[in-house]
Amino acid sequence: MSKLLITPGPTNVPEEIREIMGMDLIHHRAEDFHNMIIRMGDSLKKIFETKHRVMTLTASGTGGMEAAVVNLFSTGDKVVVINVGNFGRRFVEICETYHLEVIELEYEWGTTYDLDQVKQVLAEEDDVKGLFVQYSETSTGVLNNLKELGKLTAGTETLLVADCISGMVVNEFKFDEWGIDCAIAGSQKGFLLPPGLAFIALSKRAEKAMYNSNLPKYYFDLKKAIRFLREKHETPFTPAIPIMIAAEKACNMLLEQGLEEIQAYHTDLRMYVEKRVKELGFKLFVKNPDARGNTLVTVTREDDVDLNKLKNDIDAKYDITLAGGQGDYAGKILRIGCLGKLTKADFDKLFSHMEEFLAEYK
Ligand SMILES: *Cc1c(COP(=O)(O)O)cnc(C)c1O
Repeated sequence: MSKLLITPGPTNVPEEIREIMGMDLIHHRAEDFHNMIIRMGDSLKKIFETKHRVMTLTASGTGGMEAAVVNLFSTGDKVVVINVGNFGRRFVEICETYHLEVIELEYEWGTTYDLDQVKQVLAEEDDVKGLFVQYSETSTGVLNNLKELGKLTAGTETLLVADCISGMVVNEFKFDEWGIDCAIAGSQKGFLLPPGLAFIALSKRAEKAMYNSNLPKYYFDLKKAIRFLREKHETPFTPAIPIMIAAEKACNMLLEQGLEEIQAYHTDLRMYVEKRVKELGFKLFVKNPDARGNTLVTVTREDDVDLNKLKNDIDAKYDITLAGGQGDYAGKILRIGCLGKLTKADFDKLFSHMEEFLAEYK
C-alpha cells in the first residue's frame, strides 16, 4: 500500500522521477555527468531567479544551512537571527556551534518577525555581518517576508541568509531582485524529489565574504565546490548521483510547467485547504493572513480532540501521513503539507476521513 504524504516534506515523488532513480548510474568524473551538471545549473538559476551560480550539495537541508554559516562568517562575527520557530532556533544553534555572536530575535510561534524591531536592531548594533531568517518556517506555517529584509540589508555590510528550504518553488521567490545574499533549498520540499540534496546560491558579496571566512570546514567548503564546478563541471566528492539525475528531470518539469503557474496552483490549493479545515472546526494557527504561505496549513483546535491521535488514526487506517506539532506544540497542532504533487481530490479524501474520526471521537 503506498502512502499519501500530506506533509511539508518529504513529499510524494512522481512516478517518472522515481523511475529515473532506478536507472543505470553514470560516473561523476565522466562527460555525461559534466553535461548534466551544466544543464541542471542553468535550470537552478531559473528556479532561484538569479544570474549567480547555484551549487548542489549532497546533504539534507540542514547541511546547506551549516554550509552557509561556515563559509560566509568568521569566529566572533556578530549576526542577527530571526527566530519564529524550530528552524529559526536551528540557525541559532548552528551559529553558536561555530562561536558566532548571536543576537536572537525570537517571536511567538505562529507570528512573523517585527520589521521595526529588526530595523532598529540593525541600526543600533554596529558591524552586524549576517541576518538569518527562514522563508517558510515549517514548524509553524509562517511565511516571512524576505523582500522587506532585503531592503534593510541592501547597501550595508550585512549579508541576508535565507533558509528557503520549504519555501521555494511553491511561493514566489526572486534571489537577485529581493537582494538575498545566500539562499538554501532542499530537494525533498518543493522540488518533487526525495531527500538528499541541498541547493545553495551566493550573491557576489557573499562570494567575497566566503574568501575571508576563517571558520573550519572540509566537506562543505564552497570554495572547493566552486572551483570544481568552474574548472571541471564536477562536485569535489561523490554526489548522490541518482538524485542528481532525477533533479535535472524534476527541474525541467517545474520549468516546463512554469513557476508562476505552479505558485498560482498552490495558492489556490492552500486557500481551499484553509476553507475546508475551518469547516471541520479547526482554527488556523497563523492568524495574520499576510504571514501565511503555500507550503503548509497549520491548524489547531479549541475542543479536546487529541490531534496526534487523529493523525495516527488516519495514517493507520487510510495510509495518509500528516505532520504533527514540534517542540512545545507536539499534539497541539497539525501541519498539513501543500507541497509537491497534491490535488484537491487528495485533500477531499483526507477531509472525509477527518470527518469520520471527528464524529467517532464525540
Ligand atoms: C526541512 C527544513 C529544513 C531542513 O531539514 P533537513 O531535515 O535537514 O532536510 C530546514 N529548514 C526548513 C525551514 C525546513 O523546512
